[in-house]
Amino acid sequence: MAVPKSKITRSKRGMRRSHDALTGANPNECSNCGELKRPHHVCPSCGHYADREVVAMVDEIDLDEDAA
Ligand SMILES: [Zn+2]
Repeated sequence: MAVPKSKITRSKRGMRRSHDALTGANPNECSNCGELKRPHHVCPSCGHYADREVVAMVDEIDLDEDAA
């Protein structure tokens, strides 16, 4: 197993971690419903992408259906 030759100082460790910070999401508005959504992703609230519905949304799912 590879073993470090010497201790990494707090300074060097901090320099390495200076690039590790997470950046916030950059949501934009859905052109159909106006909800915030991730860029280049289908809108989770209305199922639209590029001004057309690509995922059909259901209001509620009835789990007690007899046909199931
Ligand atoms: Zn939407």
